[in-house]
Amino acid sequence: MNPSLVIADEPVSALDVSVQAQVLKLLLDLQAEFRLAYLFISHDLAVVKHISHRIAVMYLGQIVELTAKQTLFRTPLHPYTEALLGAVPIPNPKTPRADIVLEGDVPSPVNPPRGCRFHTRCPYRVDRCRRAAPVLQKVRPDHWAACHLRTD
Ligand code: SF4
Repeated sequence: MNPSLVIADEPVSALDVSVQAQVLKLLLDLQAEFRLAYLFISHDLAVVKHISHRIAVMYLGQIVELTAKQTLFRTPLHPYTEALLGAVPIPNPKTPRADIVLEGDVPSPVNPPRGCRFHTRCPYRVDRCRRAAPVLQKVRPDHWAACHLRTD
């Protein structure tokens, strides 16, 4: 088929860690050999960090942040991204980290909340978040976010 783009939906999520590492290495080797682009979908941030160049963070079916890998992990803009990064287990408990802990459950994607879809769980929400949905906008060079606090 000789594709230029491969969409991989959770390709390593059901594998144990050692097999995961082998599959990720194979994907990276194939990418280098055939100059492939991957659209790699995963909920595992360690895997995402290992394989990605650019990352789009999604919440309830919408992209809430988009940027280069290093930028996302160093300076996240969206509260949901902050919460995700803060939830990653790290071996050293003295390492400083973001303090956002999400409360409540993820709302139904079939009937998402009005306004910002994240407002029911966002610790920074303001009145406007309940009424108006934020649009994904460029906040810094090559760094996009959908959050009223970042784009106003
Ligand atoms: S728009 Fe409001 S509710 Fe949504 S992420 Fe930003 S601050 Fe939170």
